[in-house]
Amino acid sequence: MNLRAAKPVVLNVSAKKWRRRALVYGGLLAGLWGFYVWQPWEFDFVPRQPPLPNPPVDPDSGRLFLKGARVAVITAHPDDSEFYIGGVLTKLHADGAEMYEIVCTDGDKGYYPFSHPEALGEVRRSEQRNAAAVWGARQVDFLGFPDGRLRVNDETIGAVESRLEQIQPEYVLAFDGDYAPRFSHQDHRRAGDLAQIAARRVPSVKWLLRFSTIAPNYAVDITDEWDAQKALLALHRSQFSGDHLTWIENMVGSNAEADGERIGVDLAESFRCSRLHG
Ligand SMILES: [Zn+2]
Repeated sequence: MNLRAAKPVVLNVSAKKWRRRALVYGGLLAGLWGFYVWQPWEFDFVPRQPPLPNPPVDPDSGRLFLKGARVAVITAHPDDSEFYIGGVLTKLHADGAEMYEIVCTDGDKGYYPFSHPEALGEVRRSEQRNAAAVWGARQVDFLGFPDGRLRVNDETIGAVESRLEQIQPEYVLAFDGDYAPRFSHQDHRRAGDLAQIAARRVPSVKWLLRFSTIAPNYAVDITDEWDAQKALLALHRSQFSGDHLTWIENMVGSNAEADGERIGVDLAESFRCSRLHG
């Protein structure tokens, strides 16, 4: 009798242990997934593959770097333009391009707990205006969509499209939403998607040049513009200062070195270019 009674007790203990483990690990996984959904970065669990073949494309670069070329830069946050394409913007300015910038979010990092979003947003927008003035932007538009939560919908597409209609650019420089780096900010991807959809609707846009891409087909030598780009990065004091600024400069510099290798120069910035109209 005793032996018969003992067996189910052992089984019950084991079942309880497994149930507890399942609850703990399940809770942990749910917590991790919840954190992933809350934070604004995106990871491709299945890596994207660049298109094959991916031949070089010249986006009428003679026209792009000619005085009077109309260029719209579309980013997600204050500091994106200086971080990703500060060298090219400096070069375009020196060559006499007419440049405009559209920043999709308000840059307040409002999703961070314990922060002061309004004050931070104001500082970052002011830093962006200062930096854009250095590379010669005639106008900086902040569309004011929530930082970290940029979405692609009729409202956001319409906002970008109406700015492009006003600006009438020939060239749009924007993030690559289709071939973003495997681990990248979701706002960058969404800003790239928005730029692409809106630019296709505006006939003045002849070329779309996408930066922060894993599928580049064009690169610009920015060796001579490197010091200017570093100075632009330093203008974003609320984001990059001291050791962090040095770390950021090294990161941007090593990306530029890798892009430079593609075209046999010291430093470059690369793009995925597509002709849209004309
Ligand atoms: Zn950004």
